Amino acid sequence: LVSRKKKPEDTIITINGERIGEGTPSFIFGPCAVESQEQVSKVAEAIGAKGLRLIRGGAYKPRTSPYDFQGLGLEGLKMLKAAADQYNLAVVSEIVTPHHLEEALPFVDVVQVGARNMQNFELLKAVGQINKPVLLKRGMSATIDEFINAAEYIIASGNDQIILCERGIRTYEKATRNTLDISAVPILKQETHLPVFVDVTHSTGRRDLLLPAAKAAIAIGADGVMAEVHPDPAVALSDAAQQMDLNQFDEYYDALMKFMKQY
Ligand code: PEP
Ligand code: MN
Repeated sequence: LVSRKKKPEDTIITINGERIGEGTPSFIFGPCAVESQEQVSKVAEAIGAKGLRLIRGGAYKPRTSPYDFQGLGLEGLKMLKAAADQYNLAVVSEIVTPHHLEEALPFVDVVQVGARNMQNFELLKAVGQINKPVLLKRGMSATIDEFINAAEYIIASGNDQIILCERGIRTYEKATRNTLDISAVPILKQETHLPVFVDVTHSTGRRDLLLPAAKAAIAIGADGVMAEVHPDPAVALSDAAQQMDLNQFDEYYDALMKFMKQY
């Protein structure tokens, strides 16, 4: 059902007035994790000031170590939703288990399924039964075919509002956190009718690569870019090394807008 052969025309997903997949790239910015009301409000203000419509922030964090910050859960989602409402933004946030869906849904506009859960088939079936868009991230060791099949689980359960997100894959290369598989973007666009995003933060894991990676994503035909922004990355409770501060975010966004005008 996600195949271009089944449906030749692009799927366009409308969220808070933003039309994702229609041609002009969309953006999802926000902190790695929700840490406090003040933190998310500052980021929401910066995003809203640019006229953007979406904010991200993790409340249920899938961390590699059980001793790392696990997120604020439902309380965090409520903070993010309050900040988003103030600046007319839609909330993108990860859900890690079907058990959290019911409590979380009133506070989330786009449900993110993270890389570690791309093949959590029960979660895929559960988000297939909601009527909100799903941002499905590629598993870090998933082939493109497995990624497409994960999306198929969601659509087969009844939800066709799916955004695919390339976020880098595991390779032997250590210079970046993951290896951004940029060619996945046109392949996914050819094989499916779904919009495709690129997460430049988790793929590169390097602040200095956030801009070139986003340019590459837009140039190769991505429908949008995701990147992490935090008021004070040095003290961030997760992903401190690659989030942009608010000044860097301003410069970054300006540079991307200039780049996009060349097209
Ligand atoms: C995230 O976007 O918050 C995240 C945890 O990313 P990923 O699932 O791609 O690792
Ligand atoms: Mn992160």
